[in-house]
Amino acid sequence: MSLKLDGKALSLEIEEKLKDDISLNEKIAKRSPGLAVIRIGEDPASGVYVNNKEKACARVGIKSIIYHLKDSVGQKDVEQLINKLNFDDDIDGMLLQLPIPEKFDDQKLISNINPDKDVDGLNEKNIGKLVKNEPAMRSCTPAGIINLLKSQNIAIEGKNIVVIGRSLLVGKPLSLMLLNLNATITVTHSKTINLRKICKEADILIAAAGKPNLIDSSFVKEGAVIVDVGIHRLKSSDKSKTRLCGDVLLEDVIPKVLAYTPVPGGVGPMTVTMLLVNTIFSWQKKFGLSSTLNDLLP
Ligand code: NAP
Repeated sequence: MSLKLDGKALSLEIEEKLKDDISLNEKIAKRSPGLAVIRIGEDPASGVYVNNKEKACARVGIKSIIYHLKDSVGQKDVEQLINKLNFDDDIDGMLLQLPIPEKFDDQKLISNINPDKDVDGLNEKNIGKLVKNEPAMRSCTPAGIINLLKSQNIAIEGKNIVVIGRSLLVGKPLSLMLLNLNATITVTHSKTINLRKICKEADILIAAAGKPNLIDSSFVKEGAVIVDVGIHRLKSSDKSKTRLCGDVLLEDVIPKVLAYTPVPGGVGPMTVTMLLVNTIFSWQKKFGLSSTLNDLLP
């Protein structure tokens, strides 16, 4: 029987620890950790994600402030807000909810975020530290995946890991984190030739292509571990309802694998949890509190 890597359960478990960490240290810091979330425009999925982040912050005791800007604002307005938050003593973490409307230069905005407050781990200073395998804020989805694997003692060192996708958000930082943990990594993308054959060599296969049901059992080695990062809302056959699915055709793959992440309830909740971890990590650093979170930062 294959093992479900239950991201929801693990995220609730980590949240309990985070709550304790905050209440233990609040007296010294004299305030709770603070997170600012910048959302631009009306992308409905972003609305759902921001809501989830706000609720998760409330559960553990992080004060979150949402800046919901109209898409009529300009690049300079957003840069000014980021700058203000960079110097705001009550803000430990800040993120720009992606995607933002195309007229904005998202990479330039992320570059403006103070690296110590860059809780998405996407600023080039934090990415640079990841390349050098130095401690820093780590991007949330990759760090969440690694914690999910570690929680079930799934070995990474020496394993053949294939990552499908090379985005700045998921594929690239994830590949670097796994490389730092001594795995042998193959990174694949839309121009990869013979993806199926490469995937079939993987001890751990991680799908982050953003293509619904791309991976069926013919891509998967018997006894492999499969991590599904993709998240898609598809219309059900009667078109009146929608359902969530990932990049992996799970019902086809599950009988063949040692372990798998479900969608929903796998990687998604861990992404939010890592945002909380990064925010508390930054707060602990600011107040010179000894960090209790190093184990969670790959
Ligand atoms: P992205 O920026 O669109 O990148 C997708 C990557 O997959 C690209 O590198 C692309 O190759 C590659 N790709 C696309 N089609 C492919 C194919 N047929 N074969 C092999 N590679 C292919 O997406 P992303 O931001 O990395 O996100 C990927 C998925 O994860 C999306 O479904 C997203 O919604 C989901 N996601 C989930 C979470 C979560 O918390 N669960 C967090 C972040 C993202 P090229 O570089 O050649 O274009």
